[in-house]
Amino acid sequence: MAEEFRIVLFGPPGAGKGTQAQLLAEQLGIPHISSGDLFRHHLRAETPLGLRAADYMRQGLLVPDDLTIDIILERVMAINSEEGFMLDGFPRNRHQAEVLDDALERRSRALDKVVCIDVPEGELLRRLAGRFSCRECQAPHSIPQDASAEVADASPFPQCDHCGGELYQREDDRPEAIRKRIEVYQAETLPVLGYYRDRRILAEVPGTDSVEGVNQKVLTVLGR
Ligand SMILES: [Zn+2]
Repeated sequence: MAEEFRIVLFGPPGAGKGTQAQLLAEQLGIPHISSGDLFRHHLRAETPLGLRAADYMRQGLLVPDDLTIDIILERVMAINSEEGFMLDGFPRNRHQAEVLDDALERRSRALDKVVCIDVPEGELLRRLAGRFSCRECQAPHSIPQDASAEVADASPFPQCDHCGGELYQREDDRPEAIRKRIEVYQAETLPVLGYYRDRRILAEVPGTDSVEGVNQKVLTVLGR
């Protein structure tokens, strides 16, 4: 019988969490449940949950915790009890973590491991500050450099590999916006990590290695 894994994956913006999640889902044969993708699916398909979420968003309000929980749990609980899953982007706070535990426990299930990919803030800034987009075709480009606003504003602008268009840095890829995103991540995530550390299922994996190197380390903490 195949081993089942029920995992939550954490990682700050720029840590390569999305890439690792895709790799792991394939290697472990488990569905990758991204809260962002799930939200977009419900909004697009105008499901009852999606319509409720859209209502709050139209009013410029945050989607309440309970609605987020309903959206995630509906997906998680639809998974056969012998199968595993990997959550990404949920839980975002201690209450969500507790509700997830309770829901799994009611079906005699539990999370196996919570994996956090750690990358020092300086390294995240350096990686993210190198993200540029093409004004013409929107293609993303990676230009390694120091995280400085001056470089981002430097001219002449580098050109797109695909269409020769001008490359620029999107607002949310600018150093100030990146710092803000990292701050939000830390404020949200640290208490949740503490919760899982207390439960002794947290594994912190350094994310400064290559994609393959980080993947190996994650598989090792999962006992693979
Ligand atoms: Zn282009």
